[in-house]
Amino acid sequence: MKKIAILGSTGSIGRQTLEVIDENRCAEVVALSVYSNIDLAEVQIRKYKPEIAAVMMEEKAGELKTRVADTNTKVVSGVSGIIECATCEKADMVVTAVVGIAGLIPTIAAIEKGKTIALANKETLVAGGSLVMPLAKEKGVKILPVDSEHSAIFQSCGGDSSKIKKILLTASGGPFFGKKKDEIYNMTPPQALKHPNWNMGTKVTIDSSTLMNKGLEVIEASHLFDVMAENIQVVVQPQSIIHSMVEYEDNSVIAQLSVPDMKLPISYALTYPERFYCGTKEIDFYELANITFAKPDTETFPCLEFAYEAGRLGGTMPAVMNGSNEVAVERFLEGKIKYGNIAEIIHETMTRHENVKNPTLFDILEADMWARRVAAEVI
Ligand code: MG
Repeated sequence: MKKIAILGSTGSIGRQTLEVIDENRCAEVVALSVYSNIDLAEVQIRKYKPEIAAVMMEEKAGELKTRVADTNTKVVSGVSGIIECATCEKADMVVTAVVGIAGLIPTIAAIEKGKTIALANKETLVAGGSLVMPLAKEKGVKILPVDSEHSAIFQSCGGDSSKIKKILLTASGGPFFGKKKDEIYNMTPPQALKHPNWNMGTKVTIDSSTLMNKGLEVIEASHLFDVMAENIQVVVQPQSIIHSMVEYEDNSVIAQLSVPDMKLPISYALTYPERFYCGTKEIDFYELANITFAKPDTETFPCLEFAYEAGRLGGTMPAVMNGSNEVAVERFLEGKIKYGNIAEIIHETMTRHENVKNPTLFDILEADMWARRVAAEVI
């Protein structure tokens, strides 16, 4: 049985990872980390009995420590605590399900220790893919995608992307598909959080509505599969049944299909190369009747174009795009800016950035912090 560490165990992917384990008993949890939700962390500690649990917020860690003093779980805190989980001696695999750039350093630490990565944190590759992928190669570490599209690409090419001509990355279009720019400018957080098909965390749901999620996924896919961004074509597929496709030299296209359920890509990453049932329903093709396709509307959703631009420029630009997006989404959810401001903030921050080519980890982290400062005050 695989022994896993879950970073971000109380978030949407973390909780579904535990549901998959409940369903098919494919792994044992030896470490988990949370940001601040110690109530759920306590429940998880009592149920899964990990050796170690980390809480990002120092002040909450002390309380959790007291609460679980009767168990054998060691409670640690802060970034160093999360790194301790990511590098936990017993773990063979680390599921990186934290949100945002916070996943970058623990992921690098886990790769350094030779842990297989089940990657659910796309921001890590967006900001630091130029460091993470060569490091994984050097250490002989597998990075297995948990993102549904990337899992689909991985499954469609049988894990070997070297002969792919093109990736067809599918997008649901989000809750505002078919609407025009001025119709969505003043949309509210509850409207943007209403995703038609997927049940996900708030950050990724907002990113889905702006198509920034698809933009981040273009960059993520370019790193994971070593395909240039210009050879990744986004195709809107509103039913979210086709999760992505690959096209070969002879124009043959291979796709992966399933009902939209994150448990499937999570389970596949946990059990690869085996397949275990994880509770996902069969597609009822008679009921489904049709699958439709469309071109993304980049006039209304310019974030997708920003990502292609950041991917083309490389260097620190993807980190800047990501950092400014994280701040803009946070400000939108707090009701401080309009929905339409999200794209404006990202565009303005990217325009002001002096790109650093071939960045070090320090350059990337500094660019991220710079982007956050600018994005917090630009509008
Ligand atoms: Mg996805």
